[in-house]
Amino acid sequence: MKILVINCGSSSIKYQLLDAASENVLAKGLLERIGISGSKLSHRKGEKKYEFEKDIADHTEGLELIIEVLQSEETGVVKNINEIEAVGHRVVHGGERFASSVLIDDEVVSEIEANNFLAPLHNPANIEGIVAAKKILPSVPHIGVFDTAFHQSMPESSYLYAIPYDLYRKYKIRKYGFHGTSHRYVAERAAVMMERPLKELKIITAHIGNGASVAAVKNGRSVDTSMGFTPLEGLVMGTRSGDIDPAIVPFLQEQEGLSAGEVNDLLNKESGMYGLTEGRFSDMRDIEERAMKNEPTCKRAHDIYEYRLAKYIGAYAAAMNGVDAIVFTAGVGENSPYLRANVIDKYLGYLGISIDVEKNKIRGKETMISTTDSKVKVFVIPTNEELVISRDTSRIVKNGLKELKLWEE
Ligand code: AMP
Repeated sequence: MKILVINCGSSSIKYQLLDAASENVLAKGLLERIGISGSKLSHRKGEKKYEFEKDIADHTEGLELIIEVLQSEETGVVKNINEIEAVGHRVVHGGERFASSVLIDDEVVSEIEANNFLAPLHNPANIEGIVAAKKILPSVPHIGVFDTAFHQSMPESSYLYAIPYDLYRKYKIRKYGFHGTSHRYVAERAAVMMERPLKELKIITAHIGNGASVAAVKNGRSVDTSMGFTPLEGLVMGTRSGDIDPAIVPFLQEQEGLSAGEVNDLLNKESGMYGLTEGRFSDMRDIEERAMKNEPTCKRAHDIYEYRLAKYIGAYAAAMNGVDAIVFTAGVGENSPYLRANVIDKYLGYLGISIDVEKNKIRGKETMISTTDSKVKVFVIPTNEELVISRDTSRIVKNGLKELKLWEE
């Protein structure tokens, strides 16, 4: 079965065409600047790369172009559009309604729409993608896989904020968590690498990319995660502040005369590593290179970044009353021996964890980087959200399901 996996942003479509049986990626690409002049499609078929420049007005036109490229003699991997048997959609926010991956019917579209207020930047774009894909591929099943769904297993003690309870009732203000598909995938892979059932393990997964979050995965269920009501909470990120005293918000509004939206932008786009380096860098490679040479601003920013991550790992070891494994994934987690060594060596030795210096040199490859006598195993596991979406899609379609549960009861 060939499955098209798509991830729609407001002006972009990321896609992969996978063969479900072999799990091979047949082709993949990214269409950018939809609705803005200068749209560009970067497409890959095996090792070959292609680029197309053509103004694209909306997601429907964008997907039409992608399907054309997937079918074309030179760049394509299917002879006919009918070879695509299902479409898997990444959806950012499933709210409390979606704790599983689902077959998308009209009711599901309305329910995703009902969650738009929780993710105003993301969900409308995801819906546009679903509507466009259903128009172009009307006779195949479409499956939704949610970023928040895996964290729906969190207990109330993790997801409720200590604000008037009525605000939870009224606006569903609570912790949702994000990157769920990634946390789920790397936790499952860690269990396979440990040759132990996921159901018996306590795993801390650290998805450290431009956006970053940690999750506590106990017996295969997410019991806590660092992102919250929005992806702003938790770790220090590229441009996001992560945790701050909430009283800073009204203080800034009063002192700087900022609107609520302006403070929101300041915390999402001008803070994190970008803010700490006084607007010089948000890309970790730039900061790391300078921190390693003890350049004071970058060193300080990196120290703060490491410290916050170590604090969350320590907190989640307590939350699960133990930890068997720690997993590093995403851009920074997969590629930065410096970050991994600093977090583990400076702060987590008390848990009986030690890292093998040689093994820790690995970048972007599944590896156990802890020493053989380390009490807690430490892994680098490249994430693969598209593969999870393809697997869920294939399982739902093959078994004629309406939904697929993400954890065992
Ligand atoms: P992601 O959001 O998962 O694509 O991750 C992006 C982040 O990963 C950026 O901050 C990059 O600087 C960072 N990154 C990528 N490669 C490396 C590397 N070799 N060393 C440190 N950070 C890296």
